[in-house]
Amino acid sequence: MSTELLPNFIAGRWQTGTGQGTPLFDPVLGTELVRVSNAGIDLAEGFRFAREQGGQALRALSYQQRSGLLSDIVKVLTDNKAAYYDIATANSGTTVKDSAVDIDGGIFTLGTYAKLGHGLGEAQVLLDGDRIRMGKDPLFQTQHILTPTQGVALLINAFNFPSWGLWEKAAPALLSGVPVIIKPATATAWLTQRMVKDVVDANILPVGALSVICGSSAGLMDQLESQDVVSFTGSAETARIIRSHPAVAQRSVRCNIEADSLNSALLDPQATPDSEAFQLLVSEVVREMTVKSGQKCTAIRRVFVPRALYEAAAAAISAKLGKTTVGNPRNESVRMGSLVSKEQHHSVLAGITKLQAEAEVLFDGRTQALVDADATVSACVAPVLLGSREPAQARVLHEEEVFGPVATLMAYDSIEQAHQLIRRGEGSLVMSVYSADPLFIATTAAALGSHHGRVHAVSPDVASLHTGHGNVMPVSLHGGPGRAGGGEELGGLRALNFYHRRSAIQASSVALDALAQKAVSLKL
Ligand code: NAP
Repeated sequence: MSTELLPNFIAGRWQTGTGQGTPLFDPVLGTELVRVSNAGIDLAEGFRFAREQGGQALRALSYQQRSGLLSDIVKVLTDNKAAYYDIATANSGTTVKDSAVDIDGGIFTLGTYAKLGHGLGEAQVLLDGDRIRMGKDPLFQTQHILTPTQGVALLINAFNFPSWGLWEKAAPALLSGVPVIIKPATATAWLTQRMVKDVVDANILPVGALSVICGSSAGLMDQLESQDVVSFTGSAETARIIRSHPAVAQRSVRCNIEADSLNSALLDPQATPDSEAFQLLVSEVVREMTVKSGQKCTAIRRVFVPRALYEAAAAAISAKLGKTTVGNPRNESVRMGSLVSKEQHHSVLAGITKLQAEAEVLFDGRTQALVDADATVSACVAPVLLGSREPAQARVLHEEEVFGPVATLMAYDSIEQAHQLIRRGEGSLVMSVYSADPLFIATTAAALGSHHGRVHAVSPDVASLHTGHGNVMPVSLHGGPGRAGGGEELGGLRALNFYHRRSAIQASSVALDALAQKAVSLKL
């Protein structure tokens, strides 16, 4: 018997694609769950509808009114949370704790934007900075303003965050007054589709403000016009296709890219095996390797420790990893679930083999039996810690992102060398530094900030307060330079920039006073 073909919500109505569709699977049991298809759907009509109906209705509202819509979405999603956890267990193979990172993380991000948006009041325009005099006479001045772009936001997401990935982009877009068309990654599209369905059924948003299109990405980029924006999260390979598409290359469609990243952790050279900084690094590395089975773009991939501590760090991280039970997330004794698909399973195993050409194996959890899961059917992969005593000689270790529970420990001889090696990631989303010395943290931040979207410092005084190396908080910037995609998301109200156009209004101060009546200053 074939499974349900999920309908798409586009052009203000539910539309089912033609044909059999693409099946989505339970990555632990191997069973088919639902199918997706957008074959035969008129994309041009859908984009036009969102642009015209959704965009106009959203822009007619103030920031505060739109923030109210976000609050209403939070309520609906919270009421339906149980169903989302069931879908995540079945389709993503995640434990309850790992599903929370995606589901509750998404709802929390929406709630944060609802609060931030409320503070913008009844305005419909944002003032960017103060007025600037254009000459001797103060009457004629410039005021920079931000107005919502009059197109759609096409959001193309990766498979690892079907909930958070939707809402961390949709919240600032909707708050800005820009309608959203979400295209989830096919492997885990079910959760995104269900959340959009619940919001549509609850009749919260103006029709056309939120659409979902599941299945093939073919033709989506072709729809984009000059006032539209595209925000992409996924692999560097697909990012290249998006960047070189005529919509971006010729029609100047604004494009934000969040791609893969070889994030680092750095231990202070003054640390000792019994220092708190050392223990904090060990805990964080293990957490980052195992949360969501390492399928986080922000996960620690390279761990830099002073050469004298290489063996001690290998032993301490391995001891903790040895306690990680892996298998079916429905079994309460399981700490780490599955990868999202058999394809990812193959890709991670191949990636480990590739890294092994330049690294030794320090811990291999794959020797332990899976709990309640058939190793020949499921996509479960246990954690693997690799090591390199001579990382300066390595190439693949600094280039290859293995998107699973895998990290490489690396020995450094001087802090200058550690910095050089970290920079060989060619730009990352995040690095974390472990030290009790505020000066060391400050120096690291200044030296490595240019190569990272975020520097996360873990010192003993914030041991129980810090938010985690890999956790993306809505008030902090997310994104990174270079191979991380060069994008910027979140960062509180900074995120609104992407969905607005900046203009310089050069006019009489009297006219600028009139404009200010409709506006609010954007205080970052
Ligand atoms: P992917 O294969 O690049 O797919 C990402 C999205 O792009 C999917 O929705 C995919 O649809 C779509 N897509 C594929 N080809 C396309 C095309 N020609 N035009 C337009 N869209 C297209 O990446 P993934 O395997 O889902 O995700 C894993 C990667 O994402 C990892 O490398 C990870 O580091 C990165 N990631 C980065 C972040 C971040 O915030 N920086 C967050 C999460 C993940 P289909 O699924 O239908 O193919």
